[in-house]
Amino acid sequence: MDASQNEQEIYTLIEHSDPVYAKVVVVDWMLGNSCSYACSYCPKSLHDGSVRWQKTKDILHLYRQMKRHYVDERDKIVWLQFTGGEPTMHPRIIDLLQHASEFDFKVSLISNASRTPRFWEKISGCLNSVILTYHAEFAELVPFIRVAKMMEDSISVHINVTMHPDRFDQTFEDAQELRAALPAASISLKPLRQEFGAKLYDYTDDQMRVLSKGLPSKYAPVGEKPRSLMRATTRSGQCDTLPPNEFILRGMNRWRGYNCNVGLESLRVRGNGEVYRGVCGVGGVIGYLGEDLDLPREPIRCTNDSCSCLADILIRKEL
Ligand code: SF4
Ligand code: SF4
Repeated sequence: MDASQNEQEIYTLIEHSDPVYAKVVVVDWMLGNSCSYACSYCPKSLHDGSVRWQKTKDILHLYRQMKRHYVDERDKIVWLQFTGGEPTMHPRIIDLLQHASEFDFKVSLISNASRTPRFWEKISGCLNSVILTYHAEFAELVPFIRVAKMMEDSISVHINVTMHPDRFDQTFEDAQELRAALPAASISLKPLRQEFGAKLYDYTDDQMRVLSKGLPSKYAPVGEKPRSLMRATTRSGQCDTLPPNEFILRGMNRWRGYNCNVGLESLRVRGNGEVYRGVCGVGGVIGYLGEDLDLPREPIRCTNDSCSCLADILIRKEL
């Protein structure tokens, strides 16, 4: 928190700027940890196949519980966000997506886009948004563009380009080609952290300037997303509308003691089947995939020193 923030009142209410997003339960769901790539900067545990793909019957059991608990009893919208490893490698992924559509769930995939355009043609009708990551160590530019292109006019397509400092210039050229070929997609140039931890790789000042300038689109974004901005209000009524990373940059992401809707607006399923209210893990393990779960009915008091995941920041909390 900087000096001016210290002098300011703290925010006592952080809520969705548009109430439509308060209805959405975002489910962060890791289906397993097999991947078609083995990126040098990715910890082995995220791609070495040591966690078996989750069973279809267990996944469908949780679909049914979420439908009853969130949709039928609470009038919420369930928005699944599948990750891995590489979630499109799940042997039953097409079935899982089709079932999700039958339940009227919305679905996003976080993918490296390595499967064939034909595969993506088959599943694109089941998707509401995609986050495609371009890993220059393994990805091929032309097929990657083809996959993104088939979806960019109908759903929200966001592309992360991982910017390794050792191949920065070539990757930036690829990113510029992506920008030119995919005008409706949003693109982020992602600085990499060592072992996906807190420490950034060593970037030169010039590289840092390129990263912070980014490659903004000239076009308005297409399609819907599960979350947007948060409105933060002080006790005296001062109000700011902010993107989630702004809370982190201002050091205003500390909500210990606040009542938080994590678990009412979110859920996390880990690759090993553990289910939590959210990425932060507050409240501990609710249960395991395949079991009958007692899904959250009330907000929970935050016990963490800070709220560091963007998905967790995008949840209502109040002092
Ligand atoms: S594509 Fe993603 S999960 Fe796979 S190795 Fe690369 S960073 Fe890891
Ligand atoms: S850390 Fe978890 S419980 Fe605390 S404010 Fe963030 S999402 Fe809510």
